[in-house]
Amino acid sequence: MCACRCGIRVHLQGDKVRYIEGNPDHPINRGVLCAKGSAGIMQHTSPARLHKPLLRVGERGAGEFREIEWDEALATAADWLGEVRRTDPKKLAFFTGRDQSQSLTGWWAKQFGTLNYAAHGGFCSVNMAAAGLYTIGGSFWEFGEPDWEHTRYLMLFGVAEDHDSNPIKMGLGRLKTRGNAKFVSINPTRTGYSAIADEWIGIRPGTDGLFVAALIHELLRAEQIDWDYLARYTNAHWLVIQVPGEAQNGRIARSAEGEPLCFDGAKQAVRRASDTDAAPRLVGACELPNGRRAVPAFQLMAARFLSHEYAPDTVAAATGIPAAQIRRIAAEIANAAFRQTVELPVPWTDTAGRRHDTMVGRPVAMHAMRGISAHSNGFHTCRMIHLLQMLLGAIDVPGGFRFKPPFPRPCPPGPKPSGHTVAPDTPLDGMPLGFPTGPEDLLVDSDGTPKRIDKAFSWEYPLAAHGMMQMVIHNAWAGDPYPIDVLFLYMANMGWNSSMNVPETLRYLTDKRADGSYRIPRIIYSDAYSSETVAYADLVLPDTTYLERWDCISLLDRPICSAEGPADSIRQPVVKPDRDVRPFQDVLIDLGARLRLPGFAKDDGAAVFPGGYADYMVNHERAPGIGPLAGWRGDGDSHGRGAPNPDQLQRYIDNGGFWQHHLPAEQTYFKHANRAYLEYAQKMGWIPNAEPIVMQLYSEPLQKFRLAAQGHGEVQPPEALRQRIEHAFDPLPIWYPPFEEAAFAGEDFPLHAVTQRPMHMYHSWGGQNAWLRQITARNRLFVHVDTAARLGLADDDWAWIVSPHGRVKAQIKRLHGVNPDTVWTWNAIGKRRGTWSLDTDAPEATKGFLLNHIISELLPARADGHRYANADPVTGQAAWYDLRVRLEKCVSSEAGGTAPQFASVPPVTAQPPAPSVLRYGAAFDRRSTGVGTEDHLEWVGNRREYAASDSGVRPGHGNRTDKPAKGSVP
Ligand code: SF4
Repeated sequence: MCACRCGIRVHLQGDKVRYIEGNPDHPINRGVLCAKGSAGIMQHTSPARLHKPLLRVGERGAGEFREIEWDEALATAADWLGEVRRTDPKKLAFFTGRDQSQSLTGWWAKQFGTLNYAAHGGFCSVNMAAAGLYTIGGSFWEFGEPDWEHTRYLMLFGVAEDHDSNPIKMGLGRLKTRGNAKFVSINPTRTGYSAIADEWIGIRPGTDGLFVAALIHELLRAEQIDWDYLARYTNAHWLVIQVPGEAQNGRIARSAEGEPLCFDGAKQAVRRASDTDAAPRLVGACELPNGRRAVPAFQLMAARFLSHEYAPDTVAAATGIPAAQIRRIAAEIANAAFRQTVELPVPWTDTAGRRHDTMVGRPVAMHAMRGISAHSNGFHTCRMIHLLQMLLGAIDVPGGFRFKPPFPRPCPPGPKPSGHTVAPDTPLDGMPLGFPTGPEDLLVDSDGTPKRIDKAFSWEYPLAAHGMMQMVIHNAWAGDPYPIDVLFLYMANMGWNSSMNVPETLRYLTDKRADGSYRIPRIIYSDAYSSETVAYADLVLPDTTYLERWDCISLLDRPICSAEGPADSIRQPVVKPDRDVRPFQDVLIDLGARLRLPGFAKDDGAAVFPGGYADYMVNHERAPGIGPLAGWRGDGDSHGRGAPNPDQLQRYIDNGGFWQHHLPAEQTYFKHANRAYLEYAQKMGWIPNAEPIVMQLYSEPLQKFRLAAQGHGEVQPPEALRQRIEHAFDPLPIWYPPFEEAAFAGEDFPLHAVTQRPMHMYHSWGGQNAWLRQITARNRLFVHVDTAARLGLADDDWAWIVSPHGRVKAQIKRLHGVNPDTVWTWNAIGKRRGTWSLDTDAPEATKGFLLNHIISELLPARADGHRYANADPVTGQAAWYDLRVRLEKCVSSEAGGTAPQFASVPPVTAQPPAPSVLRYGAAFDRRSTGVGTEDHLEWVGNRREYAASDSGVRPGHGNRTDKPAKGSVP
């Protein structure tokens, strides 16, 4: 149901879902289930489910559709898409939301031939992912996890309760039960995990970089850093060329063979940085063989962070954290790292062939998420957190942060983005998304004009590794850089809570040219529910719910591995749809065949995967022997690589829906330099070779962009962008004020405004779930008690939240657990009237609200009138949390309901009316049915059939019988 991707078991009674429990064997959640997971029955039976394909007959936004059959729906889509592919494939913009099938959708876009593809990462957490992948070859969440068993000091930065939800809950439970570790949460709001932190640091939003910089300052000042770790595993000792004004300035000094160089203090000579017998110096200038001056990267870093700019006393006011507290935290970190060292009796061998008898670690672990990421300075803040980890020697060591396979990967991992050439009826030469390593990899024309509709990989957002979904609708409307013909969206509520500036977004979707045609000519949308976006589509392809389709959580996508080993999983349908809906992945594969896309259709036009997504999951090979699922390949005995195995899905089913490989103990830490692990990773196809992965304290790819901005190289930015690039592409982490704050701070907008995800909701999808709505059906604005007193606000008062871009009316709730300069609310609770099959006077519509309405997707105009996206200048990450506001108490006549209110959307044509009272489960009542005894229940969640001797109830494993499984198998 959400990006946590826990394993569940589904119990049926007859053909109805009776009960959902956590799968106790599943590597992600080990049986733990959150409120959302428990309430999945209501997600599955929601009255808001779409029932049939729809073709718009009224005006966009009016919600007037004609029900059509799938033949017509697919023929229409294929007709629209086929015309685009035959003429100019980039005129298709295909953007998907928080689905789990991005390796399929990305490959489909590649085969279609459009570069205009991305999933939702650009508006979520690309800063976190990109900064990690360019710095340490991994990142948090799917890429790595705290060493819950051994850490002595855990720092959570900007983490709400949703991403990686159950593993963090379990981990915190273990950590706090152990009683020998401290948990510090750095977050403007004290909700969720922060509520059980041993110390909550209510930082001012957007200043985490300053706080981390001050910690680094203190650790450097006290020399509480791991010199050995830095020299062995990072590029701290790599020599950086110092020739100001020249094209090589700031580049890494390399040998003729391209090997990075260091200065050996013992031999007093320049040597290869990878020479294991060298004694590399981390400070001190030297002369290179060509006469140029160079200094180690560490020296440049130390000079920056030892400066007064990042001293605790300097940053205290901006962060809202007293200098003494910063110093104390730094001392606690140093104490945990260097005086509570963890040593595991596990021998291992590094890539240089050195045998280590034990694994020694610095037990300080960190995890960061969207609160860090969703700022216009987020990329560098994320890099700074990784720098702190490197200095402590706390990456992939006992007690520290641990990589999850298939990470670490080289920094950056590659491949580069494709789309330099787009031609009719021609696939791209690679995947649309990737990792640029220099200006030559940007997708821009010779004059610097972006090639992508969202402007990802342009000079404005060069490392937009996840695309910029948040800009697609605006740019498509504006025809900037060019108009498109078809906007194809899946599972992203872009007409509401997934967009900044909702009022204008709705205008973009409905705006027409002088000739009466829509500026965005055609919109295809797939969703399972009657969300706010449905009314704006021309063609609606209704998806199934999550219990009605096959799916896979693939190593090619965003896998479910743990630091202990790789894993992937499947989802299998347990009930048959009772509506005329189809899994989106099946539909996409069908469309691929109809469009005769290579890989989807054979030469004679026959479908390559007539069995839909399940067929693809088993038989698709991205590279020889490598497919979506890693387990039980070939004859069933191999994993990772191997021929397609027709029994593969059954093997997953037999194993509870997942595959997992446990790494031998010698491979479980130091993966970046662990010979046995890296050889295994190469064999699995995760990395190109078994060379050590050197963490990049100093980033040469960033310096390449900076040099281009300074006038060097073949590919240079347009004049107006030089200064922005030069500033943002600092090869060392920096902090600068978030852009909105720089533009609008002060008396007019003195407060920050942020959202938090409720742990019982996921995006907007929980808002139509009858059980979850009983927990939260409306939201208030939370204000610190002192701030509220100053503004004359009391609980339940109504107030206008005014930003530079508009105002929203909400009801106030005071609390202590928030930074006094910050107000916050729950994300995505507010709904538009008439949607999600809710009553028009549902509290979600009358008392719920979104901050999205007052967040601009664009920054204020530059001197020449140009407006950048409200985003990080390195990655294009949407800067949701840069919002600045003031509060104005409503007069009494304004109290009583949220504003703005949008026109009610009529119920989707032919959608069965929602019952006024839901009576789910009445049929299960023994008194009315006479059944419901134990042997009436069937466990079909993993499709195993049990022998009579194995029937009965096993604690924690649900009711199992020897009856054959029922429910649907497609
Ligand atoms: S965290 Fe997400 S995947 Fe896990 S049980 Fe809850 S809804 Fe399901």
